[in-house]
Amino acid sequence: MAGKLDAMQDQALLGDEAVALGAIHAGVTASYGYPGTPSTEILERLIAEFDEGGPRAVWCANEKTAMEAALGVSFAGRRSLVTMKHVGLNVAADPFINGSLLGIKGGLVIAVADDPGMHSSQNEQDSRFYAAFALVPCLEPRNQQEAYEMTREAFDLSERLSVPVVLRLTTRLSHARSGVRVAKARPQNPLSKAVDRTAWMLLPAYARKRYELLLGKQPDMLAWSQAHPANRLELEGRDRSLAVVTTGLGGNYYEENLADFVASRGGREPARLHIGAYPLPTASLRKLCEGAGRVLVIEEGMPLVEERLRGVLEQPLVVSGKLDGSLPRAGELDPDNVRAALGLSPRLSVAVDIPRLPGRPPQLCQGCPHTDSYETIKRAVEGKASVAITADIGCYALGALPPLAVPETIVCMGASVSMAKGAADAGIENVVAVIGDSTFLHSGLSPLIDAAAANTSMTLVIMDNSIVAMTGCQETILPSARLPALVRGLGVDGAHVLELEAKKPSLEANVAALRAEIEYRGLSVVIFKRECIEAFKKRKKTEAAKARGIAACEDAESPTTGAEGARA
Ligand code: SF4
Repeated sequence: MAGKLDAMQDQALLGDEAVALGAIHAGVTASYGYPGTPSTEILERLIAEFDEGGPRAVWCANEKTAMEAALGVSFAGRRSLVTMKHVGLNVAADPFINGSLLGIKGGLVIAVADDPGMHSSQNEQDSRFYAAFALVPCLEPRNQQEAYEMTREAFDLSERLSVPVVLRLTTRLSHARSGVRVAKARPQNPLSKAVDRTAWMLLPAYARKRYELLLGKQPDMLAWSQAHPANRLELEGRDRSLAVVTTGLGGNYYEENLADFVASRGGREPARLHIGAYPLPTASLRKLCEGAGRVLVIEEGMPLVEERLRGVLEQPLVVSGKLDGSLPRAGELDPDNVRAALGLSPRLSVAVDIPRLPGRPPQLCQGCPHTDSYETIKRAVEGKASVAITADIGCYALGALPPLAVPETIVCMGASVSMAKGAADAGIENVVAVIGDSTFLHSGLSPLIDAAAANTSMTLVIMDNSIVAMTGCQETILPSARLPALVRGLGVDGAHVLELEAKKPSLEANVAALRAEIEYRGLSVVIFKRECIEAFKKRKKTEAAKARGIAACEDAESPTTGAEGARA
């Protein structure tokens, strides 16, 4: 059950891995999630660590089912971790928000990785708002050590206050590596099911009481955050006319510029509050701003602290940050834009004469099966006047860019199917929804039931590459062979459920088959099958490694073969 990560020694870890290790050392019993950059490595690491019979770590159909499974673990008195990227919390919002009202028994921690700058995401949302909305505590580590320690603390806090706790990460922390000092591991909780049923049933009469209880916990949460060592107030010997608030990685960027900033102010270092634990430590904020003429807020993500400081009405204190343009409202913080907000001139740099490089927009891999599927769709709708092609989140979203440029919409997981239904209802004649096998299992099933119930005139194309390709080839929840039965089970007429091989030699036949389904005035589902090239390469590598391992074992068992092998 103990793996490499579990070894009780200091290690160099990604921020995501530090969370995984923190969870192991906190005695987690089960971890659930759905892959999404930059959070994927948390669960990948947990899956890699746990041997058969040890604590579970599994990918789920989506973030909502992951959150609900974690609630079940907590109900049984044991500790659970849920991992996802920020937009995944939208999917899990229902059980997450309702979870704050439950009588959380085993510690429940939600590790959410935000992606400011949208390196691989469709928006920039800030999960601290979700924690505030659900009225639960949030921890925001600023380095890998804190990621490890705060994960452990989050489990303890969750059990002490009987609420879920959010651990907010961001891309730069999740994907950067640093040394982590580890502490003694704690055993798993014993199985001890919750006995108070009213604490786990959100019937209105019980839920009203639970909400009162949650509100009653707020002063305790505030006292906890107010006293938290990550919320460091620095007033001693500081210039109180300027107050600086930093949060998360913003604190690192501020410190990187601090020497220059203090020198630029004649040696006067401003008063400062760094925040790493929420709810906002309001008493510290008030103290920090006593006598200040201006407060500068440096926070990664959306202006949560700044907005709360500003309020709605004009006030004498000048609040600067993302809302007055001192810092960029969109994208990530970095040492340079923080430097500009501090009024410092740009750092000295050496101009290097680099020839202008051609842009390299992201593209599907050479030989990707989706290319053949898109060629088929393109040809199948050729010459038709009334066409709509909706797509979804995954590698196949890259088919929206030239040279393919086939899909017309990409919104959120599952929206391709529901939007296609809407477009068909609105009167567009030839409607095609494109979705990957994993995204279909994540969020495409429910909208397909809507379309099946109405026998909507549309064609759902499932691009089945047998893997979750975009996030690094995690296994899909169901094997491809089970998709047709699943689709028929949702109510799609079996005569209009087709499986086609996404291969060049089949192009003409595939175009004809797909065109016929698009022209059919009812619901059809066409599954294009072919393994992802990257998954294929990984599979071959693993098979070769296994074969080598088996050969090595056989060699070791047979002295003759081994000797011969040694000579070779
Ligand atoms: S990783 Fe796989 S599915 Fe994604 S673009 Fe490459 S070949 Fe296609």
